[in-house]
Amino acid sequence: MTDTIKINIESIGTSRLSQVDFNHIDFGKVYSDHMFIADYYNGKWQNFRIEPYDMLSFTPGSAILHYGQSVFEGMKAYKSITGDVLVFRPEKNFQRINKSAERMCIPQISEEIFMNGLTELLHIDKNWVPDLPNTSLYIRPYIFALDEFIGIRPSDNYKFIIFTCPVGPYYSKPLKVKIEREFSRAVHGGTGYAKAAGNYAGSLYPAKLAQQKGYDQLIWTDGATHQYVEEAGTMNIMFIKGNKLITAETGDTVLRGITRDSVLTIAKEWGYEVEERRVSVDEIVQGLKKGEIKEAFGTGTAATIATIEVIGDGDIDYTLPPVGPDSFSSRVFAELDQIKTGKKEDKYGWNYKI
Ligand SMILES: *Cc1c(COP(=O)(O)O)cnc(C)c1O
Repeated sequence: MTDTIKINIESIGTSRLSQVDFNHIDFGKVYSDHMFIADYYNGKWQNFRIEPYDMLSFTPGSAILHYGQSVFEGMKAYKSITGDVLVFRPEKNFQRINKSAERMCIPQISEEIFMNGLTELLHIDKNWVPDLPNTSLYIRPYIFALDEFIGIRPSDNYKFIIFTCPVGPYYSKPLKVKIEREFSRAVHGGTGYAKAAGNYAGSLYPAKLAQQKGYDQLIWTDGATHQYVEEAGTMNIMFIKGNKLITAETGDTVLRGITRDSVLTIAKEWGYEVEERRVSVDEIVQGLKKGEIKEAFGTGTAATIATIEVIGDGDIDYTLPPVGPDSFSSRVFAELDQIKTGKKEDKYGWNYKI
């Protein structure tokens, strides 16, 4: 964050802010005034600018439209009690977008482009960061391939864009999830650890079949045997069994969630025994039958913590006990919220102040 890049700024004439009802925002449907853009050509990132959020134009032959060479990130900014804008652990997203980019043969982006682009954009659109309870500014950085070329090879031209959306809660109620034993999200040697666009397109069909049976989401199992639990939809998954917090270890099939890391850090601080390991479906089903698993929840930036109330395996649905305010998931959600909004000491240095 030492070097600075030169960013050209073209401001919107009249802000659209007054058209937004912050009490009723649908997740991902409202876009802030501006976006940050960088172009990659002649072997380097250049042409840094902030412009009004608007249409893009590129040709029908662009590689992204055919072969999906694209990676993205998701992070959030919060309005602190003192009125500052705080972004939660953005350097982790910066590192991860480059890991994803490497797997997709997309050129690396420098820390100053990512962080200065983000900082300038949030300076300009700081009034878009909502301050009502359970609201935040969702930030979407992404990179995609733009060569006009029919054929499979890495592009020579890309765009890196950051735009933002004020958002409320992602899920409004606890989830019903189905353990997926047929379809796979990720396999060893595949792209599961990357936030690569195509992974999400591939997950839609199995999720749709589960939704037709009344579930909200899937619990993905390992692609080789379908006997080990990996993730819940686009979240990492955790279980509370006695004083233990159990979660799948990360590898090349499980995404290394930043919320996951934050929750594990707090759980350890609170004296929970944290087990990151292979978690078999059998262990979970037995634990649910015997009532030993007290809580199950997903972790991810969009929802922070998404409580699971029903887990379906085959034809049987197992219902978890309702979670009260004393549950681990409720407490860790509140703890993270307080840290992110500056109400509680940020002892791990997680907040990046704009
Ligand atoms: C983004 C994502 C997560 C959550 O990661 P966070 O950094 O916590 O937002 C988990 N699993 C998948 C598949 C994801 O795409």
